[in-house]
Amino acid sequence: MSITHPSFGTLADDRIIIFDTTLRDGEQSPGFSMNLHEKIRMAEALTELGVDVMEAGFPIASPGDYESVKAIAESVGQRDDSPVICGLARSGREDITRAGDAVRAAKRKRIHSFISTSPLHMKYKLRMEPEEVLQAVSDSVTLARDFTDDVEWSAEDGTRTDPDFLCRCVEAAIKAGATTINIPDTVGYALPEDMERIFTMVRTRVPGADAVVLSTHNHNDLGLAVANTLAAIRAGVRQVESTINGIGERAGNASLEEAVMAIRTRNDAVPFKNNIKTPNILRVSRMLAAITGFDVQPNKAIVGRNAFAHEAGIHQDGVLKHAGTYEIMLPESVGWQKSSLVMGKHSGRAAFRDKLRTLGYEIGDNKLNDAFRRFKDLADRKKVVFDEDLVALVDDEVMRDHERIRFISLDLHAGSKHPARAELELEVDGQIKAAHSTGNGPVDATFNAIQAIFPHTANLVLFSVGAVTEGTDAQAKTTVRLEENGKMVDGQGADADTIVASARAYVHALNKLLVKRLRTEPAALSA
Ligand code: MN
Repeated sequence: MSITHPSFGTLADDRIIIFDTTLRDGEQSPGFSMNLHEKIRMAEALTELGVDVMEAGFPIASPGDYESVKAIAESVGQRDDSPVICGLARSGREDITRAGDAVRAAKRKRIHSFISTSPLHMKYKLRMEPEEVLQAVSDSVTLARDFTDDVEWSAEDGTRTDPDFLCRCVEAAIKAGATTINIPDTVGYALPEDMERIFTMVRTRVPGADAVVLSTHNHNDLGLAVANTLAAIRAGVRQVESTINGIGERAGNASLEEAVMAIRTRNDAVPFKNNIKTPNILRVSRMLAAITGFDVQPNKAIVGRNAFAHEAGIHQDGVLKHAGTYEIMLPESVGWQKSSLVMGKHSGRAAFRDKLRTLGYEIGDNKLNDAFRRFKDLADRKKVVFDEDLVALVDDEVMRDHERIRFISLDLHAGSKHPARAELELEVDGQIKAAHSTGNGPVDATFNAIQAIFPHTANLVLFSVGAVTEGTDAQAKTTVRLEENGKMVDGQGADADTIVASARAYVHALNKLLVKRLRTEPAALSA
């Protein structure tokens, strides 16, 4: 039976709705906070990727979360190609009203309300009796429908919920007007056969379940998030919740790019369609990595540096004779392009811009000028500039958008004869400030100078240096992890000078900490 949905109309039987929660489940995980401008940039890229629903945030979580969901609804949410803009809410009146207000301006909008239904969560987290939870399901969905016809309801910890109680809750949500029913594997506990059993049960036992969109939301604690997603589709689910690069709470969510490419590559076994423009995948993946400062692991499926690299001679030989020998997907189909143009000190601005485009970067004129200046500076110091160098440099430039503290310059005196001295200039809220500091080595002196200009109580808990490419003239890529009141952030920096890269990484981390300070920790975020 075909489903008629308030935002999507009559759904074709083979249609899968792709629900992206990079900006909510992904963004709330440790170290992945983004500021308003970064969220809007991600929202635009996700729109161009073709996601159907974008969970833009959790409006009750903090004023910042509310403002960013509202800003996305008012910007991206006005485009002709805008996805449905969704705000998350617990079941209380205040949560739902806040979510409804935040998404109000969007052309198509959704409220996603959730409550825990498992015995463990009801008893210890909610301290509510099952009958109270059931009432909350009805009340929350009914209230959400006052704001929009497109309402999603989630049974948090659904895969560990008593089957009979789960069916009663789903029935109550549908009766109250929910148009999407999500049964998340909140803790990443389920196996593929559990997913098949649960969704088949809901579809066959709950009245009205065949008229709503069933949705799956899987966590990767056992590395099964994508496998569970595919199992859920086989059992009748028509909405897939996922994130770019698989980011999210703990081990993360099902990765959007993996789920989408599994459906596409194995369409013989999973015969469904979606609206994702797969050649945009790599670009969005890299944008997210640049904004958050977390690279994906090299062997990550689809978007990892090695995902299409063939090292073994016998494999290389096979791929050259026929790509299909060892490649199940075309690299170009997810945005990988053959690199040909080598950049050097004589390359001009147009070639630089073209090269960035092939690497997946579309940056504005101001940023381009800054990045080009840094490229020229790097090309003076380094004979050949590799793709990886450009990625490191542009990421470094782009992630510094809208930061309160900016690196300006650093002069150092180090070595074995005298204590290290650093002369540092930073721009803080638009004002240039300088400090001279000494320290136990150049890194210590530099970090002391940052402390002198911008006093703070954060502790340095990790400092690591890597080379972007090989050779002694390679750029350094540094990571700095700061901790303040239990909150942890990672900053990254790249430069041909290791100490400059370190200063940039420290400043980046400090900026992220400032974003994080603004938000209050909501009592129970999950779903
Ligand atoms: Mn989740």
